[in-house]
Amino acid sequence: MPKEITVEVTDVVGEWTKFLKKQYKRELAELSREYPHKRSLYIDFRKILNNKLAFELLRSPGKVIGDIRDAIIQNKLIKLKDGQDPDLINIRFTNLPQRTNIRDIRAEQINTFISIEGILRKTTEVRPRIVSAVFRCRTCGKNTDPVPQSYGRFDEPEFCPNCERKTRLDLVMNRCQFVDAQKLRIQESPEGLRGGEQPQTLDIDVTDDLTGMVAPGDRVVVNGILRSVQRVNYGQKSTLFDIYLECNSIEVAEKEFEEVSITEEDEAKIQALARDPQIYKKIARSIAPTIYGTDDVKEAIALQLFGGIAKEMPDGSRLRGDIHVLLVGDPGIAKSQILRYVVKLSPRGIYTSGKSSTSAGLTATAVKDEFGDGRWTLEAGALVLADMGIAAVDEMDKMQKEDRSALHEAMEQQSISVAKAGITATLKSRCALLGAANPKLGRFDQFVPIGEQINMPPSLLSRFDLIFVMTDQPQAERDEAIANHIIKTHAVGELIKQHEYKPLPNVDDAYIQRALAPVTPDIDPSLLRKYIAYAKRTCFPILSDGAKEALVAYYMRLRNLASGNKPVPVTARQLEALVRLSEASARMRLSNTVDTEDTDRILKIVDASLRQVAYD
Ligand code: ADP
Ligand code: MG
Repeated sequence: MPKEITVEVTDVVGEWTKFLKKQYKRELAELSREYPHKRSLYIDFRKILNNKLAFELLRSPGKVIGDIRDAIIQNKLIKLKDGQDPDLINIRFTNLPQRTNIRDIRAEQINTFISIEGILRKTTEVRPRIVSAVFRCRTCGKNTDPVPQSYGRFDEPEFCPNCERKTRLDLVMNRCQFVDAQKLRIQESPEGLRGGEQPQTLDIDVTDDLTGMVAPGDRVVVNGILRSVQRVNYGQKSTLFDIYLECNSIEVAEKEFEEVSITEEDEAKIQALARDPQIYKKIARSIAPTIYGTDDVKEAIALQLFGGIAKEMPDGSRLRGDIHVLLVGDPGIAKSQILRYVVKLSPRGIYTSGKSSTSAGLTATAVKDEFGDGRWTLEAGALVLADMGIAAVDEMDKMQKEDRSALHEAMEQQSISVAKAGITATLKSRCALLGAANPKLGRFDQFVPIGEQINMPPSLLSRFDLIFVMTDQPQAERDEAIANHIIKTHAVGELIKQHEYKPLPNVDDAYIQRALAPVTPDIDPSLLRKYIAYAKRTCFPILSDGAKEALVAYYMRLRNLASGNKPVPVTARQLEALVRLSEASARMRLSNTVDTEDTDRILKIVDASLRQVAYD
């Protein structure tokens, strides 16, 4: 027997009126003063305590928005001056209780109100779109009634509704209504992805006072109504539909957006680790444990993951805290592997190849293509998408020329300026760069100074805090160790698989632990991620006097040594690099001061790095 449905006839408009009068007095008064310059009422979803109204908004947003407008207009909650048109009022909602993952959007959500979070990949120019059209008949000369226009399709009557003849109809521009429109593409945030997944995207239709608010690379929460449009293939209507989000509001997330959450229990573990005298080794050993050796590189990457501290100068300029690292090495020496591992470890890591020909490249591009329906579109590249994280750029020596020049600004100012056609924008790229490159001739030549074999201009090289040269010279002892390590990794890989499905006979956990030991990180990757996030959030060490002296003394020595024509000039940049690296070192043990133990440690690494490229 079907359940009986009770139809509640309540005065919804009345309820909304009560709600608005109680909760939004101030906002309504402000709109009355500033209308139509200000014309959007923002309602905080958390304030809608009436469950029924809240639920109805999610299920039937169009109706609810209509009800609220009725409440406002009928009861004159916003006082309009004579002749003002209440149609411009927008009702917008923020702080939705639940977010939908882009990849989980399904048909049943069409026409419901949803909230999406992610990072903006593309934004178009803002251009007017017609929402209501009035036509004039060429035969009888009369105007039609306004014809409402929907997203993506222009509706034109086939014959004149007055004289009923099939003639040409002209648009009467001054009777038509337009709205500012912009199209965005949002992409899942990298930190929400399980390692290696390709991010999915959703297109967003933004109108009126929401246009021009955001830029590619911004991390946002977009609330709106999920809409569908029928696909058309070669003029044939398809049974498939495309979806887009009709934007109702945009919340721009600053920093720390949806970052790793740390429980009290995690915090205790982190504090205990920080007190461990072996913490540096442990962290370095937890980076790419399946890769044998390359300890100096792993230490450098550990420093990079923690990062130095960005500083705002009194004159408004900004000094970056992010540490850039470059690995130049023979092929097959595990550079790519290391990069991929780091991306998984970093809360906001993006892997890309300098060679890959994505339209946006490394930095950003402006293009005019079908995405924008003839409008210019600005698209964020890897360094913008990795804002506040790490961008791992493989095959850097093969990157495009335009990227190379934009990289200078991206690495130092940590922003990317685009000025093309109607688009001028400055996008943020506050990320650490981990680059990998092959030597000029594919392999290092033993008889040519290494510095000369790096295929990058000095201006670019000098922006890296650390450069590592990785050569693949046969060395019996080391080769055997690597070989054993690789074989072990493979064997263990098998072991894990079997162990997951059925317990191995005659093998106990202790045995597996022993077998895994050389390739198991000391610190579990998820804990290390939390450790890094915790350090970056809470620890801002300052230089002790001893540390200052040590850094200045080392820098002076460097300037003396590095005379002559070296690929990496020693400039004040290196001194800044020294400061950043020692701050990162202090952060790794959650210390509030940078001490000489930090400067000692990093000077060893810097020295090893510079010896190869800046002096001999
Ligand atoms: P590159 O990017 O430097 O050309 P890759 O990262 O593609 O090299 O590495 C090639 C392969 O060799 C990878 O499967 C990697 O795991 C293996 N390999 C190279 N060096 C080591 C090492 N030191 N320890 C473990 N595996 C290694
Ligand atoms: Mg490679």
